[in-house]
Amino acid sequence: TIGMIGIDGNGKMAGSCTTSGLAYKMHGRVGDSPIIGAGLYVDDEVGAATATGLGESIIRICGSFLIVELMRQGRTPQEACEEAVRRLISKHDNVDDIQAGFLALNKDGEAGAYAVQPGFNYALHNRAGNELVDSGSMRS
Ligand code: ASP
Repeated sequence: TIGMIGIDGNGKMAGSCTTSGLAYKMHGRVGDSPIIGAGLYVDDEVGAATATGLGESIIRICGSFLIVELMRQGRTPQEACEEAVRRLISKHDNVDDIQAGFLALNKDGEAGAYAVQPGFNYALHNRAGNELVDSGSMRS
């Protein structure tokens, strides 16, 4: 999945999300990426979020919508992503083979990200330039 979320100088937010889905997927499978609220959600009043990883698990918690709502309640983008990962993990007996990662941006331009497994990096662009950031993960 390639998920992108951004904010311009006027505070206007936008996002996009594209994927080829999962390897060996069943014909007709719809993952989280094309479902607004699961793979992507943007609310100009609050912030934006996008997701990658096992779509079935992300859909189950309305991952991107959940993150935006958590930010609406006052969580930072980082806190909101961490809570979404906790929620996702709580729905599974075993997450050894599951990867899911979230990326969030709030109305103030603060970014956050978190994943189930390590290795989820994201590209951050702001006035300072470009940076590759390790999201951090629940499991090490
Ligand atoms: N989220 C995608 C899906 O489940 C997979 C991916 O992250 O590439 O379809």
